[in-house]
Amino acid sequence: MRRKLVAGNWKMHGGLAQNQALLEGILPGVKGLRTADCVVCAPFPYLAQVQALLKGTTVAWGAQNLSQHPSGAFTGEVSASMLRDFGCRYVIVGHSERRQLYGEDSATVARKFNAALDAGLTPIFCVGETLEQREAGATEKVVAEQLDAVTGLVGAAGLGRAVVAYEPVWAIGTGKTATPDQAQEVHAFIRKRIAESSADVAAGQQILYGGSVKGSNAKELFAMADIDGGLIGGASLKADEFVTICQAAAQ
Ligand code: PEP
Repeated sequence: MRRKLVAGNWKMHGGLAQNQALLEGILPGVKGLRTADCVVCAPFPYLAQVQALLKGTTVAWGAQNLSQHPSGAFTGEVSASMLRDFGCRYVIVGHSERRQLYGEDSATVARKFNAALDAGLTPIFCVGETLEQREAGATEKVVAEQLDAVTGLVGAAGLGRAVVAYEPVWAIGTGKTATPDQAQEVHAFIRKRIAESSADVAAGQQILYGGSVKGSNAKELFAMADIDGGLIGGASLKADEFVTICQAAAQ
């Protein structure tokens, strides 16, 4: 039985006071949860703060991006080992905002994924189609290409050390959630695609859904057979919403 995971993606939001209030709001609500794991992915400058506030709690933390390189003359970049220095366990890789706004192609995403694994981090690896691609009937082709770029570099066993997040781009930050059936269909496809390389990895692979998940729709999404939790943007910035989502995952 796969464990459920809920990961909050704070994106470029927050500040010292806001982060502290948010975490103080979340911690009591998720403290007793035994059957689901919770993670928050903070902006780089706040990793030390998040580490200090979450150390010894049940909530893990991570970053939202990393460099594909281990070190060197890469101004403005942050390496996987630097993330480890701040106790990060997770790092989001290949978020659609990185792919669309910063030109990260699947080959770059795969190299970042590999850098995260090399440092012992767990990538939260995002895949998903745009509305145009969905309407053109290309969802499976797009998702397969994104997955294959990573498995081509690290193999199915490497993918199995990560968490996959299916995030239809049209559902991110738009308030338009995929229906549970729409999400399940793509999750099942992802699991089938992984099974073509390794049935064992596919069976154990955590696959999260992301895209306008809220307290009010989390339960029905997480009830689907191949949905193992969520990657949460906007709703992860509201303590009560995030707690409700984590509690839905633990049911
Ligand atoms: C995300 O940024 O990964 C995300 C799913 O955002 P939202 O929940 O706001 O749609």
